[in-house]
Amino acid sequence: MKQFRTGNLRFRLWCDALAALVLLTACGTPSAQMATSTPPAAATVIEAAPPPEVQTATAAPLRFVLPSPGAEPVSGWRPPLYPVPWAVSPYDHFYFTRPNPADQVNWPQPDYRYGGIFFDDEVHTGIDIDANLGTPVLAAGPGTVVWAGGGFYTGLPDNTTDPYGLAVSIRHDFGYQGKPLFTLYAHMSRVDVTVGQHVETGEQIGLVGETGKTTGPHLHFEVRLEYNLYHHTLNPELWLAPPQGWGVLVGRLDQQNGVLLSSYPVNVISEETGRVRRVRTYGTETINPDPHYQENMVLSDLPAGLYRISLIFDGRDHQFWVEILPGQVSYFTYTLYGDFKLVSPPTPALDFVPITPTPTHTKRP
Ligand SMILES: [Zn+2]
Repeated sequence: MKQFRTGNLRFRLWCDALAALVLLTACGTPSAQMATSTPPAAATVIEAAPPPEVQTATAAPLRFVLPSPGAEPVSGWRPPLYPVPWAVSPYDHFYFTRPNPADQVNWPQPDYRYGGIFFDDEVHTGIDIDANLGTPVLAAGPGTVVWAGGGFYTGLPDNTTDPYGLAVSIRHDFGYQGKPLFTLYAHMSRVDVTVGQHVETGEQIGLVGETGKTTGPHLHFEVRLEYNLYHHTLNPELWLAPPQGWGVLVGRLDQQNGVLLSSYPVNVISEETGRVRRVRTYGTETINPDPHYQENMVLSDLPAGLYRISLIFDGRDHQFWVEILPGQVSYFTYTLYGDFKLVSPPTPALDFVPITPTPTHTKRP
């Protein structure tokens, strides 16, 4: 078990961009205020904590006081992941496992998600996973190594200033909607594979490092569809299998008339624990929404339960509630001057239906 470290993150450089500014201002906490309204009457998940149970045996002076349930820990143990490929609906594609060992932090840094704008309109094309120098980097799925070493961004292997540093890219044995899928692992300290080598899920491909545009060790991870190019990424949080019993929030926040709310802070508050997670909507350039969801916000690794979504806009606290279901995507659309909907996007013609295994663990841990 490993504590989630955040201290060094404030000083991390954005790892993909060509610019070289320090991120001291990029990872500040959003300024949106927490909402104080109560949930709708229909949401009855809030229950009063049971009174402490006290054993009153007279023969022995022992007293057992059970603590009241507290807020969930910010770090520490998490349930094991759903087996890959995991897809409860035809539109889901949790095809990959986490690219780092199960006993390490294996979730995105909150301030370094996909679509985050760090400075000068540069948009993050992957997720960053906190990891110590030398932590094994694992293949997220089976495939063939198509890049191993420096120079990935520029395509020049001898380029020692490449922002990705030492990197590995894998073309996977499976694709999506008839297009090939790639994953990318960057900033490594050591590469253990060679181009053309076939690797299996979970196979070590190198070690976490701090090469390229970064000031601290971490793993930068990307998912790319169709072309293994900078402008063909998708949000890895929609491709990495969730922990069992946990789900993924996917949203599309419109201002009005289809104009998306860009890089805007949103609070996602657990009605059960009160824990607040802050996420920003995507920046508008470089990155791509999911082909089906057309989202501009994703927050993965949410324990199942009821969540209040809150954002302050134009002096008004916009609030609505979304239920997170185990192993599934919970999708919403919200228009600031219009509607809130919990319906999926219009159903496109399906030319590809992924495997839909039956959930085996549906209870919260
Ligand atoms: Zn990164």
